[in-house]
Amino acid sequence: MRSRPIKGQDQQRFGDDPLAVRDTDHYKEEYVTGFVDKWDELIDWKRRYLSEGRFFVEQLKARGVRKVLDVATGTGFHSVRLLEEGFDTVSADGSPEMLAKAFANGVSYGGHILRVVHADWRWLNRDVHGTYDAIICLGNSFTHLFSERDRRKALAEFYAMLNHNGVLIIDQRNYDALLDGKYGNSHTYYYCGEDVSAEPEHVDEGLARFVYRFSDQSMYHLNMFPLRKDYTRRLLREVGFQRVDTYGDFQETYQGDEPDFYIHIAEKA
Ligand code: SAM
Repeated sequence: MRSRPIKGQDQQRFGDDPLAVRDTDHYKEEYVTGFVDKWDELIDWKRRYLSEGRFFVEQLKARGVRKVLDVATGTGFHSVRLLEEGFDTVSADGSPEMLAKAFANGVSYGGHILRVVHADWRWLNRDVHGTYDAIICLGNSFTHLFSERDRRKALAEFYAMLNHNGVLIIDQRNYDALLDGKYGNSHTYYYCGEDVSAEPEHVDEGLARFVYRFSDQSMYHLNMFPLRKDYTRRLLREVGFQRVDTYGDFQETYQGDEPDFYIHIAEKA
């Protein structure tokens, strides 16, 4: 007898060999409507707001930023946060499902009309116009790029869309800890939802496959590339950023493998 598929699993298509799915374009298949609806349960806006505090807002204000491009809008958390703080914000994402949810969230949280643009990072300049003082790529999004060529292409597009003294803020999970067998996630920062678990199901140097389980028994997966911290920093420098500062869980000083997330702040000048 065939067992009943668990909700979610049947919507996301990973095929017969999910561990073989190591493809940048696959993110569009992974953020299916059911998962997108669950995403806000996963990251719990109120708790995320409290744990992040004013970190990103202060980093941007300290650099005199006015115009921001959120390239990984997702369901809109940071776009809404920045609009509330008065930043001139444009919200891009490669997933139409995510953008639809972000637009609806903007209206629900404070009546904001988000300026959304459907764009893939690898061809950002084709679809998004103008230049920006800052680009943000947050919530462990850059990890969706599976080849070095795609990472370099995306970073070059970000670089080109920044003003001469612009800043790129990009974050990532602490994959070094995961790859080196020292994984721990206190769920304090990004994955704040109470009845949600996010756990690694498979990890090797080319793939981190995570499973997300929700209280209604639904289950979804994401296949991601495990970026090592120093590798990301090197790429940022190699595409031309002059200064790269890396924070661990919003702190300037961190010890080795302790933080759950790293935040890279890359300055163009
Ligand atoms: N920043 C949001 C947050 O913190 O909640 C969303 C994070 S979600 C993990 C990653 C987002 O990046 C998704 O909305 C996905 O559609 C987007 N994304 C992944 N790869 C992309 C690409 N190549 N071009 C554009 N967007 C992409």
